[in-house]
Amino acid sequence: MWQAEVRVDLDAIRDNVAMLRARTSAEVLVAVKADGYGHGLVPAGRAALAGGATWLGVATLDEALTLRRAGVQAPVLAWLLSPGLPLHEGVAAGIDLGAATTGLIDELVAAARRAGRPARVQVKLDTGLSRGGAVASEWPALLESAAKAQAGGDIEVVGVWSHFACADEPGHESIDRQLAAFHEGLALAATYGIHPTLRHIANSAALLTRPDTHLDLVRAGIAAYGLSPIAGETYGLRPAMTARARVMLAKRVPAGQGVSYGLTYTTERETTLAVVPLGYGDGVPRHASSAGPVRVGGTTARIAGRVCMDQVVVDVGDEPVVPGDVATLFGPGDDGEPTADDWAAATGTINYEIVTRFGSSRVPRHYV
Ligand code: PLP
Repeated sequence: MWQAEVRVDLDAIRDNVAMLRARTSAEVLVAVKADGYGHGLVPAGRAALAGGATWLGVATLDEALTLRRAGVQAPVLAWLLSPGLPLHEGVAAGIDLGAATTGLIDELVAAARRAGRPARVQVKLDTGLSRGGAVASEWPALLESAAKAQAGGDIEVVGVWSHFACADEPGHESIDRQLAAFHEGLALAATYGIHPTLRHIANSAALLTRPDTHLDLVRAGIAAYGLSPIAGETYGLRPAMTARARVMLAKRVPAGQGVSYGLTYTTERETTLAVVPLGYGDGVPRHASSAGPVRVGGTTARIAGRVCMDQVVVDVGDEPVVPGDVATLFGPGDDGEPTADDWAAATGTINYEIVTRFGSSRVPRHYV
């Protein structure tokens, strides 16, 4: 018996990945960082591999090591590495490590010697996102130090990669510009004797809309979880996460009643208020105050007033709601419930944030 739950449909993740795989001849890496976008690092990773992904991608070294400790032997790339981490543990565990600075190459050389085996390195070029990666002026020095470390037998440069800024806006001029910069970066790498077997720049949006960006590997995150990176398109994906709770109380109140902290919401007429035990401590954005849609019984109602830490109040009108009824905040949408996209629209964010915050909260995650 559950009071609130995040249900994760692992078959949906597997099937989404199989569908993505069918759309490309490149290898598919599924991003399982941030606890698998809230779906569970290890279960989501296994489901992705079952769907035909050949790589898993994570941000942190810890996430990569957690996969290994869970027995996941598939290739893993970790790409968010600050100086001073125990990189030898990653090298020893056979994790591919992303590198964007000569300082990190030096650390990888030391880590490889300590681990007693060469570090598998994927060097990152910043082609315009201005986030991770070496910018054009830093690229030659990075290539030089990587080539030197490779010649010394301490590292193996297996990949060169980059990341798009606006792939979710098909036709955005930056996509072609970044792709061209990436190809230039690869050409320069070749002059340093770096011929990576894995060249990659595509995320879900590019996988779905720009086959010319697929190269050797595509890194898909959000689409694997059944959500579209592009507003208004579904691409036949099936959302894997449902967030729901059982109504705790249902009370009939008159018109003119203020609701929740600050009394920012006032009932317009006599109505039923359903108290649902999910709040911002569980991932409900506070921006969902008087906005977030909730399916209760046969109706979709809005949160009435402010989202509290542990609960929200929903004005369900004359719907005959009783304690114990299921209130669904979002799911695949098959039964008329709102979707993570509806929640993103109602709260001024993106579907990525909705699933990540619910799935990584205190709400128990149940797998189906
Ligand atoms: N590659 C990198 C470096 C990322 O940071 C992410 C996620 O943000 C992805 C791939 C997957 O992106 P998406 O979820 O849009 O497919």
